[in-house]
Amino acid sequence: MKRIYLDYSATTPLDPEALRAMQPYFSGYLGNPSSVHAFGREARLALEEARETLARSVGARPDEIFFTSGGTESDNHAVKGTAHRAVGKRGAHVLVSAVEHHAVLHPALSLRRAGFEVELLPVDSNGRVDPEDLRRRVRPETILVSVMHANNEVGTIQPIAELAAITRPVGIPLHTDAVQSFGKIPVNVAHLGVDLMSLSGHKIYGPRGIGVLFVRKGTPLEPLLEGGSQERNLRAGTENVALAVGFAKAAELAVKRRDADAQRLSALKKLLRGKLENISDGILWNGHGGETLPSVLSLSFDSSAGVVDGEALIMGMDLEGVAVTSGSACTSGTLEPSHVLLAMGRDEATARATIRFSMGRATTEEDLEAAANALKVVLARIRKAR
Ligand code: PLP
Repeated sequence: MKRIYLDYSATTPLDPEALRAMQPYFSGYLGNPSSVHAFGREARLALEEARETLARSVGARPDEIFFTSGGTESDNHAVKGTAHRAVGKRGAHVLVSAVEHHAVLHPALSLRRAGFEVELLPVDSNGRVDPEDLRRRVRPETILVSVMHANNEVGTIQPIAELAAITRPVGIPLHTDAVQSFGKIPVNVAHLGVDLMSLSGHKIYGPRGIGVLFVRKGTPLEPLLEGGSQERNLRAGTENVALAVGFAKAAELAVKRRDADAQRLSALKKLLRGKLENISDGILWNGHGGETLPSVLSLSFDSSAGVVDGEALIMGMDLEGVAVTSGSACTSGTLEPSHVLLAMGRDEATARATIRFSMGRATTEEDLEAAANALKVVLARIRKAR
């Protein structure tokens, strides 16, 4: 059976060019970029070139790009690093959207346990934040607003520039998690108007275990990791030159082919939606009609048309050779409904019965035909077993 991968939002295969660019730095170059000798200087040069490439790809300055171990660390650093600057400030207030990845949501909730006032910004049924709602909620005590650029479960794109138009004039730092949007839609820190931004290598055909935190010059931020003076004292630890080089190569390629890829993926998404439209009663499409990533198609089976077992859905698709995901987390044997879909107003049973198809460079029309057929088979099996 041919296996079909439709989980590119979870991770992407490493681009062969990125691998080639990285390889010499695993064995050939042995210097530590902090060393002043020739070996160290060679490693430093490669690291700084990677930083420049990444800066260029998002419209930032090289000294605003900080390497991290991935999207999770970048998100944690943005949230906790900003809050640590405000320790002792009375009523310090943090606003994060209700649909953030756990890498933002969990550190925000841990700040709440530490005494910060943490407020969740609600979203509409498409998963979008309303800028006017943000305007009403910001206060003089607000120290951070964090709203992701594009959602990982449903693909909804947030109006970040409109949010920045509210936070900038009053000097509140705005963080965006652009892990899912980078490489798929334009991501430019000047156009978005953000002060902090997270990126991750493995979502753009780069290596895993490397990310970037963009920090606009002058944005107050404490380090999370302390030790050496690497990354201009903001992130201690010997830099991983090979991964930085691979990430930069992947970013360069992703930006170059972004528009062509987006066009192809949009057409594939339309095709898949057409194939699934009449597959069953009660299909609800998740995400904003126009403002979604071209690579993501998420649907739920409306529980009022008969409850569909979400776990059986994903497992059944896997048995048919199609790798998709639900967005719900399996915790201690039970499927927890996704906080994103609940925030969008889906009921628990509907939220559990969700499939996210996420497509990428190797996805073909034949793959989508096979995936749609597999879903028909799996649904019929689930309904027969009821
Ligand atoms: N933020 C978003 C929106 C994501 O989708 C992910 C990964 O799934 C992350 C953060 C975490 O990134 P990483 O896997 O590089 O830690």
